[in-house]
Amino acid sequence: MSILGPPVAIAMLSIGCQPAVAESEGDPSAGADAIDAATAADVPVNHDGLAAPSDASHDGALTTDAAVKWSPRPGPKWVKLGDVPLDKNGRSLPVSVTTTSSDRYLAVRVRPAVAAPGAPWCFGIDSVVLPDGTAWLDKLADGIGASSHPFGSQRALPQHGYGVFVLPNDGVSELPNGKVRFQVVLRDCRFDLPTKRVAGANRRGRYASLPKSVVVEAAREPALNNDAKLRLVIRVAVADTSGHPAQLGADSSWQAAMTRARALFSTAKIDLVVGRIASFKAPKSVNYGPGQRTQLDAVYNDAMSALTDGEADRAARFVPAILVRCLLRNDPLTAKPISFAGQTARIPGGAPFGPSASGVFIAREHCSGAASPLVGEKLGAMLAHELGHHLGLHHTDDTLGSHRASKGYADVMNITAGPSKAKGFTSKQRVALRRHFAVYAP
Ligand SMILES: [Zn+2]
Repeated sequence: MSILGPPVAIAMLSIGCQPAVAESEGDPSAGADAIDAATAADVPVNHDGLAAPSDASHDGALTTDAAVKWSPRPGPKWVKLGDVPLDKNGRSLPVSVTTTSSDRYLAVRVRPAVAAPGAPWCFGIDSVVLPDGTAWLDKLADGIGASSHPFGSQRALPQHGYGVFVLPNDGVSELPNGKVRFQVVLRDCRFDLPTKRVAGANRRGRYASLPKSVVVEAAREPALNNDAKLRLVIRVAVADTSGHPAQLGADSSWQAAMTRARALFSTAKIDLVVGRIASFKAPKSVNYGPGQRTQLDAVYNDAMSALTDGEADRAARFVPAILVRCLLRNDPLTAKPISFAGQTARIPGGAPFGPSASGVFIAREHCSGAASPLVGEKLGAMLAHELGHHLGLHHTDDTLGSHRASKGYADVMNITAGPSKAKGFTSKQRVALRRHFAVYAP
């Protein structure tokens, strides 16, 4: 792994990915001002049943209007399980949902009845128990950072603003016939602490006012053929930070990035498709941290406005890939901002609700400006890595993701080896990726 500056930080509630920008890759000044035919040429064509690409010219500038639009696939159907009360410790009674062994996944969404921008709440589930008594997830511990440690055979990290969980995600287990039970937990994202309702308090997990209930929804879909080639659509938002048209670098560089990302996803038999490319205005540096999502959410919402045609389209099956100039993560442990090459807003992402970011962010430069921009194959590998997070994968050389690692294998999620050295996804990662509802049979 190549690191510029301080060592890799272990993010508590979201995973930041730091490598890759430090290595020299081409001329930083090359292709700096134009989003050109490069992007148009990259958009794949001739996929069955999809809208024909636009006639974007290859010899002129590609504007947002000329971006190619794919036929969107509607998102999963969410069924409301109820308005679930939370006690003064931010915990619900057990909630149950019936599944069958022929389901591809059980997705649970936990959200506030009304979005609360700026609130430090993270929404999680734990105590997930199958009909036969098997615990997929134990009760989340009360200590700081408890979410960063495995507490069962599955993974469900609490998430900012609302929570989306896709089970099972270990690449082995199947859904049971019967009721899966779980509890909802509300945590303080800033310190990864449990919340407590305490009169007069307003710090470190203790607040005078907490949400008294949350809306809990579930979605399920039938299993897909293990050998079927599936599709993952991304929509790419490119930050215009210079006042000039957004840049994607030289034609060959972006081509190389997508060729690399597609090759990595092909190891999971998933066809990675660029559904749309658009530019949008964004700050030069996007600053964020645990419980501090105001700027990340603002950038996300501006990107989504550029990438979608209204509310229904926001919920379509695609992953927003947001390319910004630089990402600066404020580390609460060192209080020292660190430049990251990639950041996935939630693991897994999808089923967007309200203004809370759900997508992958890629920084094309180091915030210090010292390193060469992230372009070409390294950009593609980083994109594949962040998409892996969005679909539910953790770093395989970390305890959270170790249950899906393959020994000695340079997989896409191995942060020590670095995404740029990856050969593909492991067999368990492949199963987990293919369960996520953003991936579908075309
Ligand atoms: Zn990562």
